[in-house]
Amino acid sequence: PIIPDYLAEALGDVESDRSGEPAGYIPELAAADPERLGVAFAMTDGEVYGAGDIDMEFTIQSISKPFVYALALSDRGFGPVLAKVGVEPSGEAFNEISLESDTGRPLNPMINAGAITVHSLAGAKDLNPTERVEHVLHGLSAFAGRRLRMDEAVCASEMEHAHRNLAIAHMLRSHDVLTQDPRAVVDGYTRQCSVLVTTRDLAMMAATLANRGTNPLSGKQVVPEPVVRQVLSVMFSCGMYDAAGDWATQVGIPAKSGVAGGLIGALPGQIGIATFSPRLDVHGNSVRGVSLFERFSSDMGLHVMEVP
Ligand code: GLN
Repeated sequence: PIIPDYLAEALGDVESDRSGEPAGYIPELAAADPERLGVAFAMTDGEVYGAGDIDMEFTIQSISKPFVYALALSDRGFGPVLAKVGVEPSGEAFNEISLESDTGRPLNPMINAGAITVHSLAGAKDLNPTERVEHVLHGLSAFAGRRLRMDEAVCASEMEHAHRNLAIAHMLRSHDVLTQDPRAVVDGYTRQCSVLVTTRDLAMMAATLANRGTNPLSGKQVVPEPVVRQVLSVMFSCGMYDAAGDWATQVGIPAKSGVAGGLIGALPGQIGIATFSPRLDVHGNSVRGVSLFERFSSDMGLHVMEVP
């Protein structure tokens, strides 16, 4: 078993790194076992290789952002979504209150301001907040190839401390970028972030992006190909927040991190990769996850700017 052995060895090499801290601002996440560690590779033919804790559930958090962006683009079309959310890297932290000064438009869909707006654009216009959350959950499940559910405790815990996201949503509402009730949108966005996934699920979700939008297990086309190209491009330029430039040069794989410790990468036509380790660096990216991706990229020549 060449790949599983390789993955187990890679985990062994990062295990001793105990630097960073689990996210502290969501009390339920701070309680996570920081020693958990997993990695999974999902090939575009549906084969999955893994090592470590790949079937343990944790909340998806910001890794939901590219997938819900994909849903909004396919539900509403490019024009209406791009009119509300840009595609420029912000070079700022994920929760920065950064909006274009003249229009109030969030710079990109990977920072919270953009993702909160994108949540409001998922599904048909006339959905009520509960229906919108259900639509998002259904869409995320289609990417994973199995029915996902929410962690109500994490969701409630985050909502109690969601002042910053509420402030962002109220700013967006004042610019008419958001047209719905800001509190309901933040509630829906927080539910979206509380969806439980495993490392295996995340690898399969990434593989769906790598596989032109078709889930390798179900064979179902979840979103159209032009949407996938848009999403992967934004992941490449903005997926790692203020570490996006370092990531693009050193790892070179479209990626997205989440504050629960998940990290995904999708290499078009080839593979979806996911790692899980809860301790985060100053940018909010998983410390061991970043190390693992750096290693995979150099060992296997996965940088998209490299000729294979
Ligand atoms: N739910 C988190 C928040 O909005 C997601 C952030 C993240 O994973 N980077 O703060």
